Amino acid sequence: MLLALLLSPTLFALQDKLDQQLDHYLQLAADDYEQAAALLLQLQEHDSAEHSIASRVRLYSYLTVHYLYATDEQQTDTWLQQALSLASATNDPDALADAQATEIEVLALRQQFNDAVLKAELLHQQGISASNPRSRYYAHNLLGRVFREDGQYELALKHFVDALQAVTETQDQRTQRRTMFLHQMIASIHAELKNFAQARQLIEHLIADAKTYQLDTELPEYYLLYGYIASFQDDDVLAEQVNLQGLAESQRQGHAGLALVFKNNLGAGYIKAGNFGQARTILNDALKQATDMQTPSDTHLIRFNLGYIDVAEGNHASGLAAMLEVINYFREIKLKTQLEDTLGWLAKAYALADRHQERADTLAEQMALREEILNSDRDKVISDLQSRYDNKAKAQQITILQQDNDLTHQLLRNKQLQQRITLLFVIVMLFGAVLLLQLMFKVRKTNRRLKEANKQLEYQSLRDPLTGLFNRRALQEQMQRRVSFSRRQTDICERENGFLLLDIDFFKKINDDYGHAAGDEVLKQLSERLTKACREQDLVVRWGGEEFLLYLDNVAAEQLTGFCLRILKLIASEPVLYDGKLITVSASGGFIHLPFAGITETELNWERALQIADMALYLSKVNGRNQVYAITGLRCDYATANQALSNDLQGAIRQNMVDYITIKGPPLPAKI
Ligand code: GH3
Ligand code: MG
Ligand code: MG
Repeated sequence: MLLALLLSPTLFALQDKLDQQLDHYLQLAADDYEQAAALLLQLQEHDSAEHSIASRVRLYSYLTVHYLYATDEQQTDTWLQQALSLASATNDPDALADAQATEIEVLALRQQFNDAVLKAELLHQQGISASNPRSRYYAHNLLGRVFREDGQYELALKHFVDALQAVTETQDQRTQRRTMFLHQMIASIHAELKNFAQARQLIEHLIADAKTYQLDTELPEYYLLYGYIASFQDDDVLAEQVNLQGLAESQRQGHAGLALVFKNNLGAGYIKAGNFGQARTILNDALKQATDMQTPSDTHLIRFNLGYIDVAEGNHASGLAAMLEVINYFREIKLKTQLEDTLGWLAKAYALADRHQERADTLAEQMALREEILNSDRDKVISDLQSRYDNKAKAQQITILQQDNDLTHQLLRNKQLQQRITLLFVIVMLFGAVLLLQLMFKVRKTNRRLKEANKQLEYQSLRDPLTGLFNRRALQEQMQRRVSFSRRQTDICERENGFLLLDIDFFKKINDDYGHAAGDEVLKQLSERLTKACREQDLVVRWGGEEFLLYLDNVAAEQLTGFCLRILKLIASEPVLYDGKLITVSASGGFIHLPFAGITETELNWERALQIADMALYLSKVNGRNQVYAITGLRCDYATANQALSNDLQGAIRQNMVDYITIKGPPLPAKI
C-alpha cells in the first residue's frame, strides 16, 4: 500500500504534457468541436521531439482523423504516414496500436471497406499489445466496429469485450460514455445473432444507466434497438411502448429524422396488429413530416403503407393505385430492396382485394427480384471476398517474395562462400600436390643417387680400382657365403672349390724396364684375360700388388691340370702391347682345393689352404717360374703333415707326405 502511494506521484509525473493536452482535446471535442480543433492545430504547431513517441503518434492520429473529417486528403495522408512511420520506427506497442487503428479508421471512413477489413484482420492476428488502456480501447473498439460491419459478429464481439476490459482500466469523464457505447455495440451484435434475451437485458440496463447518468442523447438510439428487439420477440405491446418513448425522446431532443423512423415503426406495428385506425393517424402525421423534410423515399414509403391500409379497409382500387404508384417510383429509381419489400405487401394487398392473378404475378416478380438481389448480393460478397483475398494474397506474395529474396541472397552468399572455399581448397590442394610431387621427385632422385652411391660404394668397397677385379674383402664375403651355403647343404666335403694363387714373374723388372704405367697396363690386361677365362660363378681377385687369386667354384680334380695350363698360356703366350712395345709376361702359381684331403674345414679352412697355396707358389718360383704347383692330397694323416704344411712345404714333399703335380707354362716368346 505504501509502495503504491509512493509510486503513484511518479506515475503521474510520467504522463507526457502533450498526452494531458490530448486528453483535454478529447474532452473538448465532445462538447465544442471548433475549440477542440483549434487546440489540436496549436499542438500540431508545437510538435517537438521532446514529447514521448506514444504521445506524438497519438497527436498525429488525431490530426489524421481531424483532416479526414475536414476532407483534406493530402493532410490526412501526411499525418497518417507520420504516425505509421514514427510508430514502426520505434516499435512502441502503444504508438503502433494507435497508428494502425487510425489507418483502419481512415480506410473505413473513405469507404475502402475491404482494405479496412484486411488491415483489421492483420492487426487482429498480430495482436494488440498496447499497455496504455486508451490505445487498447481505441484499437479493439475499431476492430469491433469493422468486424461488425463486415458481419463477422463473433470476432466483433471479442474485440468489444476486450475494449470493455481496457475501458475498466481507465477512470475519466469518458469512461462511462465509452462503457455504454460498447454495451450498445454488444447488444446490437446479440440482436444480429438473434440472442434477443441477452440483447434485451443489455439494452434495458443501458436505458436505465442513461437515465441515471443523464446521458439522454443516447436514449433514442437505445429505444430504436429496444423496439426492434421487442418486435422480433413479437412483444407488440412493449414494441409500441418503446417506440412511443423513442418518439417522445427524439422529438424532445429535436431529432426529426429519428422521430420519423419511430413514427414509421409505430405505423408498421399497428398495421401488423390490424390496428388500421391508429396506423393511419400516425402515418398521416409521418407523411406530413416527411413532406416537410423533403425526404421522397420516406414520403413514398409512408404513402405505400397508407395505400395498404386503404386496401385493408376495403378501398381496393384507390389503395392499390397508391401502392402501384410508389412501386413504380421504386422501379424507376431502381431501389431494388425497397421494391422487393413493397412487392410483398402489394401481393398481400391483392390477396385482400381477391385479385389472385395479380397477386400471383406480383409474387412472381418479387421472387425474381429477390433472386436478382440475392445474386447481386452474392456477387458482391464474392467480389468483396475476391478482392480481399487478392489483397491478402498480394500482401502474402510480397512477404513471400521478400523472404524468397532474402533466401536467394543468403543462398547466393553461401554459394559464393562455398565457391571461394572450394577454390581455396583446390589452390591449397594444387600447391600441396605440386609440393608433394616436387618432394617425391626429390626423394626419388635422392634415393636413386643414394642407391647409385651405395652401388658405387659397394662396388668400390669390393673392387680393386686399377683392374676392376674383386679385392680381398670380396673374397672374404664370398667365403662367408660359401660357409653359410655349405651349412645349409650340410655336406661341406662334397663341394669342391679350387684356389689358384698367381704372382707375376719379375714384375719389378717390367716396372723398371717399361715404367710404372706399363706395369699398370700389364696388370689391367692380365686381369681382363683372367676374367674371360673364368666362369660367372668364379671369382678373380687382385690379391696383392701383382698377385691374383682365382677362386673356382665346383671344380673337379680332373679338370685341374687343363685349367692351370690354360691360365699359364693365357698369360705367357701373348705379350702385352703397351705404347708400341710388346711386354712378355709370365706368372707362377700355387694350387690347392677345398676341402683338402678329406679334412674338415674346421681343421683346415680356406685361410689355411691359402697359406699352403702360397707355399706352393713359392715352390713354383724357386723351381723355375712360369709354372703351377698343385697340392692335391696327403700321403699321411693331417696331424703328421700339419707342422710341415705350415712352414716347410718343400720339406713335406721331400718326406713324401704330400701329393702334388706341377703344370708347366708355355715357352715364352722371344724378346724383341
Ligand atoms: P718375382 O718373380 O720373384 O715375383 O719377382 P718380382 O720382381 O715380381 O718380385 P716382387 O714380387 O718382390 O716385386 C713386386 C713388384 O711389383 C714390387 C712393386 O714395385 C711392383 N708393384 C706392386 N704393385 C704394383 C702396381 O700396382 N703397379 C706397378 N706398376 N707395380 C707394382
Ligand atoms: Mg710378388
Ligand atoms: Mg712377382
